[in-house]
Amino acid sequence: MSALPGPRSQVADIARQARELLGQVRESRWPGLEPPAGQRLSPPAAKPASAPGRREETSPWSSLEEIAQVVSSCTKCPLHATRTRTVPGEGAMKARLMFIGEAPGADEDRLGRPFVGAAGQLLDKMIGAMGLSRDQVFIANTLKCRPPGNRDPQEDEVAACLPFLRAQIVLIRPEVICSLGRHATHALLERKDPLGRLRGKFFDYRGTPLLPTFHPSYLLRTPADKTAAWKDLQLIMLRLGLTAPGQHPTQESDR
Ligand code: URA
Repeated sequence: MSALPGPRSQVADIARQARELLGQVRESRWPGLEPPAGQRLSPPAAKPASAPGRREETSPWSSLEEIAQVVSSCTKCPLHATRTRTVPGEGAMKARLMFIGEAPGADEDRLGRPFVGAAGQLLDKMIGAMGLSRDQVFIANTLKCRPPGNRDPQEDEVAACLPFLRAQIVLIRPEVICSLGRHATHALLERKDPLGRLRGKFFDYRGTPLLPTFHPSYLLRTPADKTAAWKDLQLIMLRLGLTAPGQHPTQESDR
């Protein structure tokens, strides 16, 4: 039997794990967004039926497939005229974690899938470093069509496209959203602070915790910031209870 009653020992365990993870971040150079040696995560716990404090919204569409269908024939903004394919997003219908990027690039526009180019390969590594795989999360973008020449999304395009993303979030009901880069972060939080001031902290997005971090394309250009990005991802791991094997906070103290 544990010296502390269950909940207090769980708090102590969580605090210890937080100290260990932060220690690993400080010690790790983490050159390629690889997890520190030996760190592997236990599988995600079952998703709670509903999170306390979540404001229930409804989606005008009843499934992710229906949203993708509507997106495929959308002409609400000028981007429909220059797109090759729409990129609605992909992943687990019941994902606990959603990554939201900016807009499709050339590779995504050609294939109709999000994050499949160089930035996508880095995002795959980031997801893998968390002990997850691409098919366990949901990956989407603020815009579902490519802006010509990969220019920044314009306000009217974001306003036209955001209802699709909101509906995806309502249907998936993730426990955490990770916004990648300033465009996705600004669109969802409806504020324009520099990303450096917003990243690494949890915000409330309509009842769902949202943590902004750097966009993988930026990290490819600025590898020195990968350490900070990994720290951000570890905050999400803590929030989701993703811990090294044998250290799950709900198990260890009661053994
Ligand atoms: N960058 C994004 O923001 N989204 C993609 O899908 C690809 C690159």
